[in-house]
Amino acid sequence: MTTPSAAPLPVLQELRPSRRMPVLFVGHGSPMNAVEDNVWRRAWQELGRELLGPAERPQLILCISAHWLTPGGWYLTGMAQPRTIHDFGGFPPVLYAQQYPAPGAPQAAQALAAALRSPATGKPLGVDDADWGLDHGAWSILLPMFPVADIPVLELSMDFARPPAEHYALGRQLRAWRERGVLIVGSGNVVHHLGAMRAGAGINATYTWAAEFDARVTDLVKRGDLDALAGFAHWGEGVRMAHPTHEHFLPLLYAAGAVHPGEAVRFFNTGFQAASISMRSMAWGMEL
Ligand code: ZN
Repeated sequence: MTTPSAAPLPVLQELRPSRRMPVLFVGHGSPMNAVEDNVWRRAWQELGRELLGPAERPQLILCISAHWLTPGGWYLTGMAQPRTIHDFGGFPPVLYAQQYPAPGAPQAAQALAAALRSPATGKPLGVDDADWGLDHGAWSILLPMFPVADIPVLELSMDFARPPAEHYALGRQLRAWRERGVLIVGSGNVVHHLGAMRAGAGINATYTWAAEFDARVTDLVKRGDLDALAGFAHWGEGVRMAHPTHEHFLPLLYAAGAVHPGEAVRFFNTGFQAASISMRSMAWGMEL
């Protein structure tokens, strides 16, 4: 039961015109970052405070997480109250006890799904109003960032059967929604190789292949050559080390797609977790 003193959250009926909202790509790393006091989490807390500062706040958060893959189509979560999904194993009970009770936005989900087009078929996107919810790619960063959980959250899945260029193309379609109060948050990692993790490695300790891949991404983002990110699969031998599977890279393509030409970027959380996970994160459309 919820406490009766809590005022019901307003249901988001429609997305109103707004200032241009920022776009984020957040390296999420270990699920434990949701609850551990560390440099990554502190940066998320700080960013959240800034995003809820004097400027108009987001009406909706649209999160593209590395952990919701739907081969065969793209889907938006459409439930009124998305569940918190503990999609990991072997972590301490405190992590399974975490809840992120942000509301969904069924009407906004329907409107977005109808407006967006699958880059594969040209048809509107699907709406999942029963099965998914908020996986840890979404809630582990949103919990520190927006602990009050009063901004509605939608997740957008990724059709993992489709090539990177299509993920970037769908990101392009998200761009216009930034002026309808939508804060776009890609959640993955610029480098992600679980099998090469070294527990306890310092944030500057990493591998040559990881540093090189991270630097290449950084250089393209700094230069605003965001189209080139979709070609990462052709960057040579190091790609298979940086991304044995590439689901953690794809959310960056959605965020990059939603960026306007020439928009300035701010990097944060530059560094590595456990040597093989780049935590490098980016914010566009914010003051530098
Ligand atoms: Zn992950």
